[in-house]
Amino acid sequence: MKKYCFGIDIGGTTVKCGLFETDGTLLEKWEIRTHSEDNGSRILPDVGETILAKMAEKNIDKSEVAGAGVGVPGPVHDNKVPYAVNLHWGPTDIAGILHKITGIPIKAGNDANVAALGEMWKGGAEGRKNVIVVTLGTGVGGGIIINGHVIEGAHGAGGEIGHAHVEDSITDVCGCGNSGCLEQVASATGIARLAREELAAKDPSEASVLENEKDLDARAVFNAYKAGDAVAARIVNKFAKYLGTTLSVFATVADPEVIVIGGGVSKAGDALTDIVSRYYKKNAFPACADTPIVLAQLGNDAGIYGAARLVLD
Ligand code: ZN
Repeated sequence: MKKYCFGIDIGGTTVKCGLFETDGTLLEKWEIRTHSEDNGSRILPDVGETILAKMAEKNIDKSEVAGAGVGVPGPVHDNKVPYAVNLHWGPTDIAGILHKITGIPIKAGNDANVAALGEMWKGGAEGRKNVIVVTLGTGVGGGIIINGHVIEGAHGAGGEIGHAHVEDSITDVCGCGNSGCLEQVASATGIARLAREELAAKDPSEASVLENEKDLDARAVFNAYKAGDAVAARIVNKFAKYLGTTLSVFATVADPEVIVIGGGVSKAGDALTDIVSRYYKKNAFPACADTPIVLAQLGNDAGIYGAARLVLD
């Protein structure tokens, strides 16, 4: 008999939902709005309702559903969150609440960890069991998978690669409250920071296409880098040194079969993985120096894939 599962990825503005077969075939995906008003008290009932509605629409019986996995932007421990700032949640028993509404098994995980699981299941690390996934977006997220299981840790902080301390000279405060985090130099905003610094520090006689760039963002930097701009090359090398070196440190803990880079910044493609690999290799412990660094493949769907995968353990 065919079995189904749901993957739910709760974000600050939308909830992404996917109906899967348990072999990982995505049958249908849709979105609902995240109603974060009233301390986000409607979010889980809305999720429960959309799951039940989809089951009714497709004539799927509870006995045919392995469960629903839920990714949330916050620390998750034992299928509960102590808080989720973007959703205005205090302590929330995700599995308890959703199970009561739907009657199906529920599992929950941190959104970055869940996305990592998605890439392991059906994306850039398909078929592997030991994987580091790093997501370069507005921030830097991460997930470390060992023997097929995401490392949650004692505080739900396992795999918070973005908040590894990499630079003493930064005094701006990171979202986490510290200063000098990888996120401050390797996220989209971090690369823009490096670009502003490099342009301010360069010799005025040195020309760069980035000087005329209205949006000095990561995309502009990588485009200029690919076109051979020397200033852009210095920025990209700085970024890649921070990221590649940090990944080499994490690799001594996780010894992954593959490292996956996703998020908006990864649209830069092979140029990005090539240069990050160079610094990774240079600093990695010899036994794991040849670990391939590849691009993520699932894009924004990584969260629903990984959430669905949660319930299959
Ligand atoms: Zn931080």
